Amino acid sequence: MGGIPYGRQEILQPDIDAVVDVLRSDFLTQGPVVPAFEAKVAAYCGASHASAMNSATSALHVACLALGLKPGDWLWTTPVTFVASSNCALHCGAKVDFVDVDPRTYNLSPDALERKLRTANAAGCLPKIVVPVHLAGQPCDMEAIYRLAREYGFHVIEDASHAIGGRYQGEPIGNCRYSDVTIFSFHPVKIITTAEGGIALTNDAGIAERMNLLRSHGITREPQLMAGGSDGPWYYEQLELGYNYRMTEVQAALGLSQIERLDDYVTRRHKLARRYDDLLEDLPLTLPWQHPDGYSGLHLYIVRLNLGEIRKTHREVFSSLREQGIGVNLHYIPIYRQPYYEKLGLRREDFPHAEAYYREAISLPMYPTLTEEEQDRVVKALHEAAS
Ligand SMILES: *Cc1c(COP(=O)(O)O)cnc(C)c1O
Repeated sequence: MGGIPYGRQEILQPDIDAVVDVLRSDFLTQGPVVPAFEAKVAAYCGASHASAMNSATSALHVACLALGLKPGDWLWTTPVTFVASSNCALHCGAKVDFVDVDPRTYNLSPDALERKLRTANAAGCLPKIVVPVHLAGQPCDMEAIYRLAREYGFHVIEDASHAIGGRYQGEPIGNCRYSDVTIFSFHPVKIITTAEGGIALTNDAGIAERMNLLRSHGITREPQLMAGGSDGPWYYEQLELGYNYRMTEVQAALGLSQIERLDDYVTRRHKLARRYDDLLEDLPLTLPWQHPDGYSGLHLYIVRLNLGEIRKTHREVFSSLREQGIGVNLHYIPIYRQPYYEKLGLRREDFPHAEAYYREAISLPMYPTLTEEEQDRVVKALHEAAS
């Protein structure tokens, strides 16, 4: 019996055909397929603009720059996320702080955010950007965060790396109703993949234009954007110090093919989650709680150990599962615990819910091609490990 990973992609013949078609075409990059993929994702989500990039990390960076984040500014996010959610601020020379999580959803808590905003307001150091992360695919309480954004004047970037295909208040995540920009990741463990890749969605034409410029060296060939007059048909202008963060045609072709199966994937993840819910009911675990306002993309199925009812430690349960070939994981080590972040001088005591989460959380295998037999093996291993 082979090991069961915590997540994996599915590549079918239509994906391979789409990629091969591009390989045989005139353009490997900067051709027609990237714009087609952008239009498809924008239409699926109900957003006006989409800018595809080589990763969600790049998209987060460019979104921060497009929203004017600069040295001296603050960006706040949740500590229970991948480091890219906060590194984007450091890449802009800005400062980072964290807001504790909600004890039920493990998402950034709007109550904790409001308390922190009041204090920051009094001290004159309000954030310029707040980055809510839809952990495991479950949408944050965006309406509450948006209300605070209005009151305190900050921008919102949704890090929806886990959440394509999910819904909030009945509408697709990514429509940017309550945010300036929404980011998706297409890394192979995420819901659909382009190998590496990410995208930034927005309803603001000016932000979209700046993101498109910054992902491609800050260079434009569009006459209406140019500062000077054209010298001739060869002419282009560099207007900003940008990057090469472009997505290739090959990646976009894979994404266009994968998005056809997005709804099926999320449905399948929900079926697996309901099955886990039933099979794990009697164990001393806290199972994922789903807020009624959201329909999760269910990128992850995260359980928490009720340590008071188990005679083993978190580490013992985790190791026992790994030894049985179950590729469990922990999403995530709170970012303020990372050595690189220690110099920020953040205190663990300020994040009691993130700390409690970190002591107990385990991500179980969850991906659309996980079979019921494999899921039964995970459940059996967990029964042995956690009883
Ligand atoms: C995966 C992930 C990212 C980074 O995505 P890449 O496409 O790998 O750069 C950012 N934030 C979160 C929450 C993620 O899970």
